[in-house]
Amino acid sequence: MSAPVRVLVAGAGIAGFAVANALARRPGFEIDIVDPNPRPVGVAVGLSSCALRSLAAIDVIEPVLAASAPSMTLHMCSADGTTLVRVDRQTPEGQPYPDNVIVDRESLARALAAPLAAHGIEVVHGVAVTGVTVEDGGATVSFDGRDPQRYDLVVGADGIGSRLRGIVIDERPRDPEQLGLRWVMNALPGLDHGTMYIGPRAVKIGLWPLGDGSVYAFLTLPRPGLPRADRQEVLDELREVLTEFSFPGADQLRAEVPWDDVHIAPFQSLAPDAPWRRGRLVLVGDAVHAMPPHGSSGAAMAIEDAFVLADELGRAGVDEALEAFGRRRVERVRRVVEYSTRNCLAENEDAVAGRPLRPMDAGEAVRFWEFLRTEP
Ligand SMILES: Cc1cc2nc3c(=O)[nH]c(=O)nc-3n(C[C@H](O)[C@H](O)[C@H](O)COP(=O)(O)OP(=O)(O)OC[C@H]3O[C@@H](n4cnc5c(N)ncnc54)[C@H](O)[C@@H]3O)c2cc1C
Repeated sequence: MSAPVRVLVAGAGIAGFAVANALARRPGFEIDIVDPNPRPVGVAVGLSSCALRSLAAIDVIEPVLAASAPSMTLHMCSADGTTLVRVDRQTPEGQPYPDNVIVDRESLARALAAPLAAHGIEVVHGVAVTGVTVEDGGATVSFDGRDPQRYDLVVGADGIGSRLRGIVIDERPRDPEQLGLRWVMNALPGLDHGTMYIGPRAVKIGLWPLGDGSVYAFLTLPRPGLPRADRQEVLDELREVLTEFSFPGADQLRAEVPWDDVHIAPFQSLAPDAPWRRGRLVLVGDAVHAMPPHGSSGAAMAIEDAFVLADELGRAGVDEALEAFGRRRVERVRRVVEYSTRNCLAENEDAVAGRPLRPMDAGEAVRFWEFLRTEP
């Protein structure tokens, strides 16, 4: 019997958890997974059919569905709550899971950690990867908090601020000059499906019930051409733009924003050419591709990466599999990044012109969802 392939997964975010699960169910891999942070990054995430299909393929869909709420309606309203566009997603006949769900990130992390524990794999928190030296047939990894170790394969799943990206590609993420603000709050009366409200200044608020009585709230703040603002300035701007909404529940929203727990993130965009590897170091998830959440697909592409990487590693030796992985991912991911970035930049144009956002193009959104349903 040949020796197992020793794999280090650097990062226990959505991509890292998915990779570890996808490999754990296959024979022949010995997996370590480390992450400096004890808690996942972000607040909640929408997972569309392609994410769920990949989670089903790696046998972890049940815990994820148990932690999620179906999210099948995309409803856009004006600031006073008047409907502008409404699309109800259809789950194709025979598809054994909803076409889209929403899940808070803590629950998602727990749902993905449990099957790993059943395989005897524990995530080691408090340990960061500080460097990777790529060698013939493997790589030596240095850590903050433990001695260097050699692995046969290193999967860089260390997110948008990736340390490992620079070892593999020269390209850096572009900043489409828009901020995302996110928080969780109490349910709002009458809100039973995901709804976005478009404000007068190209700002939109999305409110998504999480199924446990709470609501995931997010606000996109276009800031084209403006310098980076500090946290207090952004919160002051949030306070001001919220006064411009008058939909039912807007007063409660204003009164109950958990100001200390508002998560603020600049959006990023990145879609490099293959290969996404250098030797036995391969990148997955936001470490190698990033997009604004205007297609709600960054996590979905990270989960698909995991499925495809494990699929290729199940067919061929490591080097051949890593080449095939990059070839299989680049064009599909590029299309998703382009769709998401285009929609983000269109909002910035509206912001510059000083007009409310154009409502979503329902036909384009439906075509995009159909594309996501195609095989990766
Ligand atoms: C506002 C906003 C809303 C979004 N909404 C959606 C959505 O609805 N649907 C969707 O599909 N996507 C969405 N996304 C995108 C999605 O969050 C990301 O694409 C997804 O989290 C990427 O997963 P990841 O594992 O690559 O990165 P992350 O989830 O960021 O995980 C990276 C992990 O690496 C760890 N790490 C960092 N440095 C090191 C190191 N040196 N060594 C080891 N580990 C390290 C971090 O601690 C972290 O746990 C959204 C993004 C934003 C900003």
